[in-house]
Amino acid sequence: MAERLVVIGGVAAGMSAASRARRLRPDIEILVFEKSGFVSYGSCGLPYFVSDIIKAPENLVVYDAKFFKEKRNIDVFTHHEVLKIFPAKRTILVKNLENDREFEVQYDKLVIATGARAVKPNIKDIDLKGIFTIRFLEDGIGIKNFIKENSPKKALIVGAGYIGMEMAESLASLGMDVLIVEQMPNILGTMDDEINEVVEQELQRNGVKLLKSTSVEEFTGENGYVRRAKLSNGEIVDVDLVLIGAGIKPNSEIAKEAGIELGRTGAIAVNQRMETNIPGIYSAGDCAEAFHLVLNRPVYIPLGTTANKQGKVAGENAAGGNAIFKGIVGTAVFKVFDLEVARTGISEKQAKAEGFDYVSTVIEHGSRAHYYPGGSKIRVKLIADRKTGRLLGAEMVGRDGVAKRIDVFATALHAKLTVDEIGQLDLSYAPPFAPVWDPILIAASDLEKKIKK
Ligand code: FAD
Repeated sequence: MAERLVVIGGVAAGMSAASRARRLRPDIEILVFEKSGFVSYGSCGLPYFVSDIIKAPENLVVYDAKFFKEKRNIDVFTHHEVLKIFPAKRTILVKNLENDREFEVQYDKLVIATGARAVKPNIKDIDLKGIFTIRFLEDGIGIKNFIKENSPKKALIVGAGYIGMEMAESLASLGMDVLIVEQMPNILGTMDDEINEVVEQELQRNGVKLLKSTSVEEFTGENGYVRRAKLSNGEIVDVDLVLIGAGIKPNSEIAKEAGIELGRTGAIAVNQRMETNIPGIYSAGDCAEAFHLVLNRPVYIPLGTTANKQGKVAGENAAGGNAIFKGIVGTAVFKVFDLEVARTGISEKQAKAEGFDYVSTVIEHGSRAHYYPGGSKIRVKLIADRKTGRLLGAEMVGRDGVAKRIDVFATALHAKLTVDEIGQLDLSYAPPFAPVWDPILIAASDLEKKIKK
């Protein structure tokens, strides 16, 4: 019998693993079990699907189950949930969700790519119609259908993380009044205040109301549909659509039950080969930890970029190869209305909490030559180690040229460059793209001066 690789979960990490394994090993059998009805799609596009920039759900799907069977000889089983893993006998228990039939499947190698799920806070009547989380393609379809059928006018977003921001733009673009409530005193988690204040101004400029240090205490409804939310500040607000963006949790329960070690973050612990503590079982993506190259320890920063890379490494090793995933530096970017917001490495808040001896600077500089149209100011915040001058993190916000500039700092973090070295980088220049002294170089040399003081 041919060797068999089984993959649990068929989105970014799972399908990357299956595809990589197939490329290396045409001879093995590859089976993917996916609970939902879709595989290989970009969840990152969901806010743009809801706002109708992306018209059809199929546009978000890269390849479907038929493609994987016909072109890659990978057997994809949608609507099949894996209930249990039995490492001792190398089998899994699968349930066909269409007919409730359960059966065991043998594997030689297993990749767990079960991703994560949206956290639903414990709020009274959170299950009323019109209250959504956004995680899977089915969630996006549900929200879009609800909007079409009910024409909601007042949207409430619970949680001011990056998904809350993207959805605020999405729902506002559909003509809804949007209120965001955030239980923490600041938006965007560990991002620093100098960046957040620009984001808050952008929300205000676009008519989005934000209440910080505020949570929802209960929802009330009429005929099963959400109508009002009672807030912790005593206010009762009218709502007809609620989006919960209160974070996500790794789907690591079936792994834990099978004796697979979880890390301190609650996600599956893996080494650089994406191996778990049980031989022959790998894990990748939003259900697993990743090693942070600045913090020097495993962290849980679930992103599509990491899921694809980890999946590829898990698939290669499960197929008998020898690939390594060195780690991440926590690079992320999002758009809210006309702003691009990006970060990499650690923020000042994190540097303080982690006990780093650091120096920081904030500068503003044009994105293009001052005489060339279309440019605007970029705000850059840099954090470096006081003694060595090594970059620890960067955050940027602006209307033009932020998203890809952050990648210079991400690369610098991977290369462990000092701010002095960053200030000397031979970066590109022509008036339509950058000023002769790019904001990256200005920020680095400003921080260098502070370090030398
Ligand atoms: P998932 O996408 O969660 O897929 C896991 C799959 O496993 C799911 O389909 C699930 O149904 C299935 N599954 C779980 N348990 C079982 C089981 N027991 N049996 C069978 N199947 C199971 N990342 C970025 O890098 N940039 C972005 O701009 C960005 N934007 C985003 C916007 C939104 C709205 C969302 C929701 C996410 C965004 N992300 C972004 C994050 C990115 O989408 C995820 O990191 C990525 O999808 C993770 O892929 P994954 O395969 O690890 O997990």
